[in-house]
Amino acid sequence: MILATGNKKNKPKIKGIEKFEGKGISYCAICDGFFYRNRSVSVLGSGNYAVAETNELINIADNITILTNGEKAPEFRADNVKIDTKEIEEIDGESKVEKIKFKDGSTIKTDGLFIAQGVAGSTEFAKKLGIVTNKDKIVVNENMETNIKGIYACGDCTGGLLQVSKAVYEGAKAGLEIIKRQRGI
Ligand SMILES: Cc1cc2nc3c(=O)[nH]c(=O)nc-3n(C[C@H](O)[C@H](O)[C@H](O)COP(=O)(O)OP(=O)(O)OC[C@H]3O[C@@H](n4cnc5c(N)ncnc54)[C@H](O)[C@@H]3O)c2cc1C
Repeated sequence: MILATGNKKNKPKIKGIEKFEGKGISYCAICDGFFYRNRSVSVLGSGNYAVAETNELINIADNITILTNGEKAPEFRADNVKIDTKEIEEIDGESKVEKIKFKDGSTIKTDGLFIAQGVAGSTEFAKKLGIVTNKDKIVVNENMETNIKGIYACGDCTGGLLQVSKAVYEGAKAGLEIIKRQRGI
């Protein structure tokens, strides 16, 4: 059995998010950061995930604003990074993201918004099977096998680099290991 359940992202309930997905709203700084070279971007989140996404953008965008939407600000210092803890009212723009409106009536201009709020685990059922997880990621050995013999896992659900290339490698590795086992190699 191979588990390849991915890594579901939390989607915040803020007006404008669905409308502007792919039009300035992104869920992956490694994937889409280069669209914002020398521009102003915002990162929505307050935890480690938001800090990691900001680090990806720091040498690409001119300036970055971390928006915590009322949450406590993360520990983060960099010349081109600001942190704003105000609660967000809506994401606004004509055909793409142009500004963030806050509940106190103030606004900031931004060219893009990266959503980086904590991940909602898709590994709950794995835990129920007795599979060892670490911070919502399925723990595997170098053959992509979990602690339960015959159950493998691959892709985003095992953590690390959340990219197609890594998911494909791990899927291939798990598949080959299973074939080897079936052939008694
Ligand atoms: C908006 C966005 C843009 C991205 N852009 C890029 C990019 O440009 N380049 C790149 O390399 N990567 C990109 N990524 C990351 C890439 O999509 C993932 O790394 C890759 O899809 C991981 O593959 P996966 O098979 O592990 O998981 P997924 O592709 O997420 O597939 C997991 C599947 O398992 C299903 N599933 C979950 N739980 C269960 C369950 N209990 N029972 C049955 N099915 C279940 C899900 O519905 C889903 O179909 C992007 C991700 C996002 C969100």
